[in-house]
Amino acid sequence: MKELVKEIKELKKKKNAIILVHNYQRPEIYEIADFIGDSLDLSLKAKEAEAELIVFCGVHFMAETAKILNPKSKVIIPDITARCPMADMVDSEKLLIQLEKLPDVYVVSYVNTNAEIKALSYVCCTSANVIKIISQIPEDKPILFVPDKNLANYASKKSGRKDIIPWDGFCYVHHLYFEEEDIKKKRKEFPNAKIIAHPECKPEVCEMADFIASTSGMVKLASIFNELILATEVGLCERIKREYKDKKCLPLKESAICSNMKKITLEKVLKALEEEIYEINIDEEIRKKAEEALNRMFSL
Ligand code: 13P
Ligand code: SF4
Repeated sequence: MKELVKEIKELKKKKNAIILVHNYQRPEIYEIADFIGDSLDLSLKAKEAEAELIVFCGVHFMAETAKILNPKSKVIIPDITARCPMADMVDSEKLLIQLEKLPDVYVVSYVNTNAEIKALSYVCCTSANVIKIISQIPEDKPILFVPDKNLANYASKKSGRKDIIPWDGFCYVHHLYFEEEDIKKKRKEFPNAKIIAHPECKPEVCEMADFIASTSGMVKLASIFNELILATEVGLCERIKREYKDKKCLPLKESAICSNMKKITLEKVLKALEEEIYEINIDEEIRKKAEEALNRMFSL
């Protein structure tokens, strides 16, 4: 592993590349990162990056977001099949059909969407800024929130906006792996631990947690509390343990693994850097419209 890390770092320097790494990546991928973060942090880094090449270790929509915000840089993802199934639960054809039925809505899209969906949106949001974004949307029309119904529900409860129409999408990791029973069990076992749920979890799971937070929000909470149980993808505990060696951090479920995120390996990153694959390309008209929705998110 050390040899691979060294080779990647050397090649990265030679090619004036930067490597952006999502919190859910394998721990060995952290070793080659210029920056590790949640989807909001990473899109900001991509926007500001002056590198010729951006290697995105995450899933496809994240690399695509980097390209939307930084069209001058070449953006590559080491495994083109690393996609987010939730992002793929909404496509432009289905969204346009809905928009014909609901012509007056503001479309708010979670950053976990493909470029075509962002291009059809008024504004984007992430789990870290969803409440802020929703609260600033004019109240004259309802909101169609795509694709995560759980995040839509959380945003509606927290912002007090009752006119949010949720798309019927969900994250298979957060929605299907965590149940109320899991929280009850862990509370008994670890009475001093703070339980934090990602807002992609079901409402009944979120209600039982001590805090609801995005992945970077969870990292921040780890600076305050010594014992944490996280209802999110298992990788986040690795990230927290790396940053705070003295903290106890357990996943609510060991089986909560996003197999798509884990497709990226050091071997694939090296090959990607050598061959500059797989490049993200977006139709310019779609890119510009998607950029508008992302920039509105940054400005709100
Ligand atoms: P964050 O926005 O917290 O990085 O989450 C992205 C994601 O894919 C959660 O499942
Ligand atoms: Fe998509 Fe869920 Fe994986 Fe995040 S954890 S990338 S939302 S499938």
